[in-house]
Amino acid sequence: MGDRVYNFSAGPSMLPLTALERAGAEITNYQGSGMSVMEMSHRSKVFQKIFDDTQAKFRALMKVPEGYKILFLQGGASSQFSMVPLNLIGATGKADYAVTGNFANVAYKEAKKYGEISLAATSEEKNHTFIPAQSQLKLDPQASYFYYCANNTIYGTEWQYVPETGDVPLVCDMSSDILSRPVDVSKYGIIFAGAQKNMAPAGLTVVIIKESLAGHELPFTPLMMNYKTMIDKDSMYNTPPCWCIYMLGLVLDWLEEQGGVEGMEKIKHGKAKLLYDVLDSSRLFTCAAEEGSRSDMNVTFRSVSEELDAKFVAEATAAGFTNLKGHRNVGGMRASIYNAMPVEGVEKLAEFIKKFDKEN
Ligand SMILES: *Cc1c(COP(=O)(O)O)cnc(C)c1O
Repeated sequence: MGDRVYNFSAGPSMLPLTALERAGAEITNYQGSGMSVMEMSHRSKVFQKIFDDTQAKFRALMKVPEGYKILFLQGGASSQFSMVPLNLIGATGKADYAVTGNFANVAYKEAKKYGEISLAATSEEKNHTFIPAQSQLKLDPQASYFYYCANNTIYGTEWQYVPETGDVPLVCDMSSDILSRPVDVSKYGIIFAGAQKNMAPAGLTVVIIKESLAGHELPFTPLMMNYKTMIDKDSMYNTPPCWCIYMLGLVLDWLEEQGGVEGMEKIKHGKAKLLYDVLDSSRLFTCAAEEGSRSDMNVTFRSVSEELDAKFVAEATAAGFTNLKGHRNVGGMRASIYNAMPVEGVEKLAEFIKKFDKEN
């Protein structure tokens, strides 16, 4: 571990040390190939095996059923904000969006370019501190799809249930909580996630898509934004993000050693509970998100004043806990405790919070 810090960054964020070390050991000569994965043709046999193995590991860990494709794309989660409506809205011309945070709002505004978009729910009136209940969702049975963001990275809220939408396909942005818990993929039409929170370095976007949803894109859909193009060529219409796919494979090996997504669910829930318990029993700190909507991945909190917040962040940084300053939309602090954040890092931060609470 050496001089590494506990990095609480919201993304890009920590990667498992074992994955980084293996990548380091293989960086100039991947398994006797005489070259780095960064230097290989994406059409080579060696790379094809990395690709196939990573895809198979992902399918097994997330229990992705038959009839669904796993795509390894570029463009970030944000490109999916356009790709989803371009490919799906043609069904009825309408879609429902739940706006529970910044990224869902960006997706909502983007989708309006392509069809009639309804606000199925919003948490804006309380600065996105809660997740609406199922009974609060205004659902249109004629919608082409229902869109939501499972974990709101900036506000620190997380959906604790899967919305029931009848025959309307679910589309979900899982960028900041994918692989942290089991997911019943068969309930979804599309799940997508940028890699840089819980999976791999930035540059890879994973899309899980029910195959039958592809092939109905709007006529002006750009070639590279058409799911069908990528399904037909197994994500290799053009050069895929090779290095990130390789890194994802290493992270998935590590995840398997943690007991897969079932094991990770217990670990991550324990880490989050530790922080929330310490914050709830402190004198100085309050959590931003309402109980029942709190995220296990991004813990948002504040002290009694902005001055004290600044003091906390400065002293934490000096103690080896970095990137705890909150997003400007929320203020205060945010501890992003994704899969790769060791339990020990959270335990030490909890101790630090207790000490700070006593001394100030
Ligand atoms: C980080 C994030 C995004 C944006 O991801 P990019 O890959 O930078 O486009 C979108 N949605 C959520 C939930 C995120 O956490």
